[in-house]
Amino acid sequence: MTWEWRLDDAVIDRGNGLWQIDLGFQDRREIISAWLYRGSDSWALIETGPSSTLDHLNAALGSLGISITDIGHILLTHIHLDHAGAAGLLAQANPDATVYVHPFGAPHLIDPSKLIASATRIYTDQMDSLWGTILPIPEQQVVQYEDGQVVDVADRRLQILFTPGHAWHHVALFDLDSRDLFTGDVAGIRMPGRDYICPPTPPPDLDPDSWRASIAAMQALRPKRLGLAHFGMFDDAEGHLARIEPALDVFLKRGEESFAAGEAQDILTVSLHDLMARDVDAADPEVLQSYELATPSYMAAMGLTRLYRKQAEKAASVS
Ligand SMILES: [Zn+2]
Repeated sequence: MTWEWRLDDAVIDRGNGLWQIDLGFQDRREIISAWLYRGSDSWALIETGPSSTLDHLNAALGSLGISITDIGHILLTHIHLDHAGAAGLLAQANPDATVYVHPFGAPHLIDPSKLIASATRIYTDQMDSLWGTILPIPEQQVVQYEDGQVVDVADRRLQILFTPGHAWHHVALFDLDSRDLFTGDVAGIRMPGRDYICPPTPPPDLDPDSWRASIAAMQALRPKRLGLAHFGMFDDAEGHLARIEPALDVFLKRGEESFAAGEAQDILTVSLHDLMARDVDAADPEVLQSYELATPSYMAAMGLTRLYRKQAEKAASVS
């Protein structure tokens, strides 16, 4: 198969007025997806992707005969740029659209300056080519989720579940009728046709205990299918959810060892990449590259190193 993104197969019908859109990140297929619900008089979009894929999103909407002005509701799982970077441009293009976000994320949509500064520290000169323009969203267009609330959009009832662990401001969205669960990054990264789940462990919010609680909360919903931003819809929800924690534990163990040994972060980066390669099946370098683009090993290493450094600082201040 070709790994180049093409509009022809970027819009995937998931049944009952739900589409998955392959946003074609870096012009590759199967890295970042968004989800689109058709209602009787308005459409709802879950995840926007980054601004760098906005042309692809617009083309995908066009192929369904709609445009951004038809989308009344934009629901974010969290504000990381690969999931929500385009929300400002979309809100500007459709001032009637409402953007839903966790209360901790809302201030950073209204004033993204801190978000941009911290992302620039991580991505440096790659910032623009990876993510594109990040615009503030007018406060009156932003609505804050409440944990457990049911949001009525596009003739659907979507229950909001606060799911910290990957990020404090992360939520999952559960369609009460279809039992589809949209998991952002909290159910990990898994490529189509693959079993391996990679835990995305970026700085600064990584919190293993809350992540475990979020996994249990998702399991308690008994979802039928999982919609992963990276990447796609998976039917084996129960089996998938059971495998996230063991995969997370592998990364945590390696991160903790690395911190204890005082390793340079580059060494941990290579070692996490090797763990991923072992479990993905290194015989297929393209698939490995997809995992790496969705959750870069250097970022995972930064998150783990920060976690164990903070834990060590806390322990030192208590003793
Ligand atoms: Zn992500």
